[in-house]
Amino acid sequence: MKVQSTSPMVVVANRLPFCLGTNPETGALVRKQCAGGLVTAVAPVVVETGGLWVGWSGLHLEDQNVEIPESDPNDKSPTAGLKSNQVLPVAVSKQQFDDYYNGCCNATFWPLFHSMPDRATFQADKWEAYRQVNAEFARLTVEAVKRLHESDPGTVPLVWLHDYHMMLAANTIREKCDELNLAIKMAFFLHIPFPSWDIVRLFPWDDELLQGILGCDSIGFHVEDYCLNFIDCCQRRLGCRVDRQQMLVEHNSRTVSINPLPISIPYNRFQELAEAAEQVVKNNPHEQMLLGVDRLDYTKGLVHKIKAYETLLKKHPELIEHATFLQVAVPSRTDVKEYQELKEELDQLIGRINGQFSTPNWSPIRYIYGCVSQDQLAAFYRDSSVAVVTPLRDGMNLVAKEFVACQVGEPGVLLLSPFAGAGNSMHEALQVNPYENNEFADAIYRALTMPKDERELRMKQLRKREREHDVNFWLRNFLKTVDCLIDDERQFPPGRLFPMREEDFSQFLGSYVTESTRLALLLDYDGTLAPIAPHPDLAQMPPETKRVLERLSHMPDVNIAIISGRSLENVRSMVGIEGLTYAGNHGFEIVHPDGTMFLHPVPHEFEKQLEILKQRLQEEVCTDGAWVENKGSCITYHFREVSKDKLVTLTERAQELFREVGISIHSSHRAYEARPPVTWNKGRASLYILRTLFGLDWCDRVSTIFAGDDKTDEDAMKALEGMAITFRITKSQNLRTAATHRLPSSDAVLSMLKWIERRLSARLPQVTNGMRSRTASMSSTGNRSPTHTPAPSSPKIISRTNSMNTPLEPNKQVMMINDAVYQQYLAKRHSPPTTSTGSPTQSPSHSPTRSTV
Ligand SMILES: [Mg+2]
Repeated sequence: MKVQSTSPMVVVANRLPFCLGTNPETGALVRKQCAGGLVTAVAPVVVETGGLWVGWSGLHLEDQNVEIPESDPNDKSPTAGLKSNQVLPVAVSKQQFDDYYNGCCNATFWPLFHSMPDRATFQADKWEAYRQVNAEFARLTVEAVKRLHESDPGTVPLVWLHDYHMMLAANTIREKCDELNLAIKMAFFLHIPFPSWDIVRLFPWDDELLQGILGCDSIGFHVEDYCLNFIDCCQRRLGCRVDRQQMLVEHNSRTVSINPLPISIPYNRFQELAEAAEQVVKNNPHEQMLLGVDRLDYTKGLVHKIKAYETLLKKHPELIEHATFLQVAVPSRTDVKEYQELKEELDQLIGRINGQFSTPNWSPIRYIYGCVSQDQLAAFYRDSSVAVVTPLRDGMNLVAKEFVACQVGEPGVLLLSPFAGAGNSMHEALQVNPYENNEFADAIYRALTMPKDERELRMKQLRKREREHDVNFWLRNFLKTVDCLIDDERQFPPGRLFPMREEDFSQFLGSYVTESTRLALLLDYDGTLAPIAPHPDLAQMPPETKRVLERLSHMPDVNIAIISGRSLENVRSMVGIEGLTYAGNHGFEIVHPDGTMFLHPVPHEFEKQLEILKQRLQEEVCTDGAWVENKGSCITYHFREVSKDKLVTLTERAQELFREVGISIHSSHRAYEARPPVTWNKGRASLYILRTLFGLDWCDRVSTIFAGDDKTDEDAMKALEGMAITFRITKSQNLRTAATHRLPSSDAVLSMLKWIERRLSARLPQVTNGMRSRTASMSSTGNRSPTHTPAPSSPKIISRTNSMNTPLEPNKQVMMINDAVYQQYLAKRHSPPTTSTGSPTQSPSHSPTRSTV
């Protein structure tokens, strides 16, 4: 049945669907056919929908604007209808292409994705070339989308990226199309395996890679196992919310569907070829033929296969002169040393076996190193008794399917490795582990001696399935996943994950926060508790968030710290809840609920420079909505409200002023910040807070959660790595973060707080002696590392005598900071720091302490 798409299709693949060559007589470029199964299936859809194909032509042309020739009038191939203006050839320099193709695709992704990491190399410059070449493919794809929109403004083109060469293009395409307001659908299909998380994590830029693939709306792999591997990676590496049942991944605010789409072959074409092909191999009625057809690649297990055949001949000498192995090895990547070595090994092995077992009229192995025509191949498939398809790892393996399609005569036997994707569905094949030589030889023997009725039965079933599930079936199923199939009878649109709800946090925190957990919550303010607003004064925390935080703050064994880039007094007044730890100026100033105060010393020299910078910024660049926020030991120059046309002039001048004064710039949300030149940040401040609240061994006893939305919060996520669960609030599609999970918005933070509240709801609000002591009794609750499920702890006896309504009594041991002391502190703030007057980790029996480190 013809497959039709509702949308014009833009195929983006490493290669164009035909090769380019030069006519030796005229010197003109001509098309050369190199159509495989994919092109056969997909090219007609591109032709019919008036779509486009983006890819490399196979030639490094000096003239980059060279015109693609039209097809020959006698061309009968699937790409004949593809006009030259439907083809966008990618032109990159030979060196860059080599780094991308050989250096990264073939030397890194090919072995890694085939779970052979020892053979993979990881080189930053090759990865950079991969990035750049993907960006070039993306640029041309956007061109293609533009053209389609110009010719039909209402259209939504379907962009289909293919294989491990194109894993980074999607985000660039999406960003540009969003910017130009061009609607698209985007899908990706991987033609090789997708390995487990354990392998993927070896790739040093795995987060970028996964996010690159997630730029699409629909992602296809050959089999379910690869889909689950991918979902697992998204959850574990990126902290994405996933649904394994429906195979959905949420990346920031988009839902991406993951689909098992086993690729196949044009079954009928192979069957017709087999029916028509001349006999190639002379038929000796006493001889059976074993057939292997492989690209000469280390993943194909050629050496294992030939060694198993050797063992077979040793175990069953009666097979000599009666079972011949015909091995076709198609040359591949012949300029690569590894492949040359493999060829050498195979040559020697075959030579040795032939030398050992040959008789005057017979050789055990016939070895063809080269290409054979499709007709010849069909004859081989038809006339062999056993096909030995035993790769060590293979995405799908189409040889197995081609063999089955060509079995039009006496039924043969398919011997198949379970490590090929095809092994998942071709159940009637004999499966054998190619790594076990003895068992392998026995399996070949079983195949050679299988009775006809069993062969018939197995082959019939195999042929039936492959006939139904041919390459067009694959294409139809793919189009269904993107809702683009004409005459699709399905009633339901593709699945969606529910918006983030409280329950989702069971997935993230279920085993980490239990009823008996001692909990530390470290939270950023802007963009985390309160949505980002045009002016900091407008960034208000939603009343509901405030109420939940208040209730949490009254729960026993819950400590909350707000760590913000705002000044201490400002963040304290914005949040407005008593009993919390507040850290201002990225943690340069910290005050605990008991009044213990910490100020990081600021070099006197810096204070002088800061004063000058503040003055000069105010004089020169505080125009057009730009302004300076004075936060004591830090200042922030805000330009969020400056119009686009003024922005460059103002920010460039501001940068000059920072340079002239000698203070380095810290960029944040449309602002530049001047911070003291000391190695103190939200990370060290977080560790300090935890240490002072719970003692040096806090990590053993406290479950810590951190949430933040910007670059300054990354310091805390890094510092807490392995010792806390951390959330990065972000909408960015491609972001490197040390956080364990990502959340789309401050609404999700509220959901998290509500989940925690519900989780701890068995605890009654408790106020110890008027307020919680920060050295309140701590019981061991086992290993608190977020990577381990905490050991169940004995439920703590919770005092129910104190409730929120108990009037506060003055605490004899812990003194709360009162306004007078606080004002005193504010007044003193600019004076040079004093030396330590007491360790903040000691019993909090001091009056408000000003400590330094
Ligand atoms: Mg923030």
